[in-house]
Amino acid sequence: MTNAHHYTIRPKDLGAHLYEVQLTVAAPDPKGQVFAIPAWIPGSYMIRDYAKHVVAIRAEADGRSIELHKLDKSRWQAAPTERAITLVAEIYAHDDSVRGAHLDNTHAYFNGACVFVSVEGQEDVECELDIQAPQESCAKGWRVATSMRRQDAEAYAYGTYVAADYAELIDHPVEIGELAVGEFDVRGIPHAIAIRGRTRVDMARICHDLQTLCEQHLEFLGAPENLDRYLFLLHAPAKGYGGLEHRWSSSLVCARDNLPQRGEEGISDEYRTFLGLASHEYFHLWNIKRLKPAVFTPYDLVDESYTQLMWVFEGITSYYDDLVLARAGLIPEESYLELLGQTITRVIRSGGRHRQSVAESSFDAWTKFYKQDANAPNAIISYYTKGALIAATLDLKLRVASDGELSLDDVMRSCWDRWGKGEAGMPEEGFEAVCTELAGENLGGFFDAALRGTGELPLQAMLATVGVDYHLRQATSRTDKGGKKKSGKRLTPLWTGANLSVAGGKLTFSSVLNGGPAEHAGISPGDVAVALDGVALTAANCDQRLRSFRRGEKLELVFFRGDDLMTTSITLVDAPENTCYLSIDDEADLATVARREDWLSSA
Ligand SMILES: [Zn+2]
Repeated sequence: MTNAHHYTIRPKDLGAHLYEVQLTVAAPDPKGQVFAIPAWIPGSYMIRDYAKHVVAIRAEADGRSIELHKLDKSRWQAAPTERAITLVAEIYAHDDSVRGAHLDNTHAYFNGACVFVSVEGQEDVECELDIQAPQESCAKGWRVATSMRRQDAEAYAYGTYVAADYAELIDHPVEIGELAVGEFDVRGIPHAIAIRGRTRVDMARICHDLQTLCEQHLEFLGAPENLDRYLFLLHAPAKGYGGLEHRWSSSLVCARDNLPQRGEEGISDEYRTFLGLASHEYFHLWNIKRLKPAVFTPYDLVDESYTQLMWVFEGITSYYDDLVLARAGLIPEESYLELLGQTITRVIRSGGRHRQSVAESSFDAWTKFYKQDANAPNAIISYYTKGALIAATLDLKLRVASDGELSLDDVMRSCWDRWGKGEAGMPEEGFEAVCTELAGENLGGFFDAALRGTGELPLQAMLATVGVDYHLRQATSRTDKGGKKKSGKRLTPLWTGANLSVAGGKLTFSSVLNGGPAEHAGISPGDVAVALDGVALTAANCDQRLRSFRRGEKLELVFFRGDDLMTTSITLVDAPENTCYLSIDDEADLATVARREDWLSSA
């Protein structure tokens, strides 16, 4: 018997959504071994208290039950013993997200953070995991997909897997079910994608495009020494979007129609969304999974870990995810500029950018970004989107100031060399120090304004240095995401000063924007629109109705607040010019054009 911690997981009852998890510890702390379940999962910065899903837990030594005392919300202590302890837990799993654990009669999925207890003081011990098959007949034909190293298991099969330590054990999500699998090599490193459930997709094309994408990323920062495999785990339901990064894999969710069918050609906007998501999570295998903030080395999975650097890890990743699609030749430059225009649009529609800086947004991720309420558009700014624009501004600023000698690519390579390859982690002031050092000038003023200030970024001026023109216009519909020039001659709808969304089939004022007509009219978030000017106001007719009035006209608005029918008057105004699109300046000089080509092609 080895000294490894031996874990077993078995989907015990698909109908009741219960896993049974066992853990045997050969040499427990003789004073009474403490066990813990994480309160949060790396990559998703919110306290989730996974221990709340433990339905039953007991301990045995030598086949006899021993006392297990609960210490706090997520820790237990076994009675003192010198013998091996086996812990047996039943865990409820019905969170079908990339950060949860789920089990039903169609599949099983889990993150280790949700189901595996750690052995306090022995987190560095190797972990073996025996993945067992469910008994139910509906699970016949299910296969196992995980990036965890196989010990005696065949590929995509049940059996024993192994991880170097607890942190690695919980860094390999596992999907078990009917899988469509595609495999490809990138620079000799085996890669795979496993898609869950019923799908009919052009797998050869997806593999080809992912290979092109991963190759471009590997070209950029080089393959990490221990990157000997990589797996994309994908769930594609009717609707949904999201991902979670890991060192050797990622879990992705995208809408089914984001994936190409056989016979389809060209990159649709939907497929571009999927490729952007895959690109984002793949870049994370460097930026956050290996190169990380010092406070994450190691992760404290009990409490919140505060850093002002989330913008570096999510914002810069959001900048490169789309840029790499262009650099890899998967999308043309116009398509990339459209995506950048959409990101700019999201930022300038967030009034909260005048209230919160990205440094504050990073620090308060736990309570603000991850716990957004209806006031979020007025109060906070996303460190993803504004972080991406800071990255773009900084990249172009470095390029123009150095005459093309220096770029954000160089900064990232330098950060990777310093902190990505070791265990130290990036100190809070590290990123700015590297920029200043490489640029040979103090960039403190830029960073104070961009990171710690709430003013506008000089992005328009920076885009001009690469011959890209910046335009603002009014939104043409409730769902206009920006990025494209206005098409057609239709009038633009007047502005309510609210974000309207459809909830339960009803047109709802999901957010009321500070200083806008809805706020002046006394509308609250959650109010449900009924009628405007005597005619029903619905998701289907909303844009058309808002085109039919004159600006400044006082209109009767009827709405429900809870079950109270209420009436107010609202004065609609012209929509603000808060929708951005970018275009290429055809008259730019040769040096400018060369700078743009360098930006969109170099690595
Ligand atoms: Zn991310």
